[in-house]
Amino acid sequence: MNAERDRTAKILLVEDNETIRNAFAILLEDSGYLIEQAGSGAEAMDKVAAEKPDLVLMDLGLPDGSGLEITRKLKANPETRDTRVVAVTGRTLETDRAACMKAGCVGFLSKPINTQELLRRIPEFLGDGG
Ligand code: MN
Repeated sequence: MNAERDRTAKILLVEDNETIRNAFAILLEDSGYLIEQAGSGAEAMDKVAAEKPDLVLMDLGLPDGSGLEITRKLKANPETRDTRVVAVTGRTLETDRAACMKAGCVGFLSKPINTQELLRRIPEFLGDGG
């Protein structure tokens, strides 16, 4: 069975550093993805509800709280619980990774993000295999 999507995947970038966020927005748009952006947890909640992204790249350090807490809220809401979330953090201990997976994330990326790894793994994060 062909796992290729029949439409362009929409990715929500949640990152409070605007410079980093814009850089990854350009990278991912150039790779053919539709990009939405949020700079805070509150904005992330709004954008997930409004835009229904296929994937959320969730910075865990946000000005209004933890991205993990936002992830738990998304997972607790039947409307948003199926949203695929990948945690992005500079904290790379195995316990940090375990906490992300326990919160319901489908993956974990260490900061600084390796762009090649990101592009290679997005299909996996989207559940498209690869
Ligand atoms: Mn941050």
